[in-house]
Amino acid sequence: PVVTRFAPSPTGFLHIGGARTALFNWLYARRHGGRFLLRIEDTDRVRSTEPAIEAILDGIRWLGLDWDGDAVFQFARADRHAAVAHQLLDAGRAYRCYATPEELTALREEQRAAGKPIRYDGRWRDRAPEDAPEGAPFVIRLKAPKEGAVTIADQVQGDVTVANAELDDFVLLRSDGTPTYMLAVVVDDHDMGVTHIIRGDDHLNNAFRQLALIRAMDAVEGGWPDPVYAHVPLIHGADGAKLSKRHGALGVDAYRDELGVLPEALNNYLLRLGWGHGDEEIISRERATEVFDLSGVGRSPSRFDTKKLMNLNGHYIREADDARLTDLVAQRLPDGIDRDLLQRAMPVLKVRAADLNELAANAAFFFRSRPLAMDESATALLTPDARAILTQLHAKLDALAAWDTETIEAAVREVAEAAGLKLGAAAQPLRAALTGSRTSPGIFDVLALLGRTESLGRIEDQMA
Ligand code: GLU
Repeated sequence: PVVTRFAPSPTGFLHIGGARTALFNWLYARRHGGRFLLRIEDTDRVRSTEPAIEAILDGIRWLGLDWDGDAVFQFARADRHAAVAHQLLDAGRAYRCYATPEELTALREEQRAAGKPIRYDGRWRDRAPEDAPEGAPFVIRLKAPKEGAVTIADQVQGDVTVANAELDDFVLLRSDGTPTYMLAVVVDDHDMGVTHIIRGDDHLNNAFRQLALIRAMDAVEGGWPDPVYAHVPLIHGADGAKLSKRHGALGVDAYRDELGVLPEALNNYLLRLGWGHGDEEIISRERATEVFDLSGVGRSPSRFDTKKLMNLNGHYIREADDARLTDLVAQRLPDGIDRDLLQRAMPVLKVRAADLNELAANAAFFFRSRPLAMDESATALLTPDARAILTQLHAKLDALAAWDTETIEAAVREVAEAAGLKLGAAAQPLRAALTGSRTSPGIFDVLALLGRTESLGRIEDQMA
């Protein structure tokens, strides 16, 4: 059975690169009827914070990437990590290294000066145990293979080979007994039963070391299986450079709160960012869980395009249920607004907005109190002639027996015709008076939604 995982380090918000990694892992697991696990890599005790953990969990939940079982916290598993290092030591697959920090610094400087790659030279690899300085601190290093090469059959990158000579005997356990990241990741992935590791290609170099460690376990615990790797190219900004704060790389929460994006839009966008299935652009979650595969992941970095995201967002807003949109938009409007009115207005509002904030801004006029504040372009429309038309409209509308879109439209047309005006010459002042602006949903819908009393009152405030 397929088991995937998302393994964020909680040192900041859930950024969109992380969100896409989580999505791919989630989709792969769901596609194959497997499990999607979450591991919080909180071993950096200084930089890992509780608010960051909350922000990440919150972001994943908002995206609807439900994980199976409880989240695993890496730091809590330090004893297990150390135990594996000691097993490798006992099996002769790892060794104690007593090189002092000064010695290692000197080694690095020597290598740098000679233009050689910076690499631990294995000076303690074959030393006799009697050489160990009494009571001196040591680290435990993996006894990595020196000959041959390792090939990773990466599901995205293809076969990638590295000569073992290029990998040094890296540290598993520090002198204070704490595990390194490399050890913790491998042990946790194994213990969690992870079969497929899908992550950013900035981890590809680590994969060779991790695989060397996995293979060293053949001497311990009966050997650990190789996982399947898929290293996904990173997301770049529109200018082609790696996505950074400079590009406005934001946390998922900022897409939700500041940009007013719906989770299904962000999911669809992130899915299409670096993965394709023919020329399908709009791919629902259900569809994605049927067709997602690793072979559709491209090998080159994808460019983040906010415009595309917002186009998709507009699509999903139009598709979204009115009651749900009412909740989301009401949060962006003053307390105590008439939610029933907002929901009734939603069909005409949602077709005109690319994000929830715009939707809220477009809806706001419904809930403003009289006399309505006019924006500049609306004020400019309200000439003496326009105000005179408003007076006529008021008289006509006030006399209507019914108050629905069709009846209202017929009445406004009649007034315009009688005055020898085009419909727009009546409708535009009406729009200004009713909404305080020059743009709004269809004006007859606005009148119908606002209701007779409020509509007539707003017209009265502006008429001659
Ligand atoms: N914690 C690592 C990160 O946030 C991911 C490790 C992994 O996926 O193997 O970049």
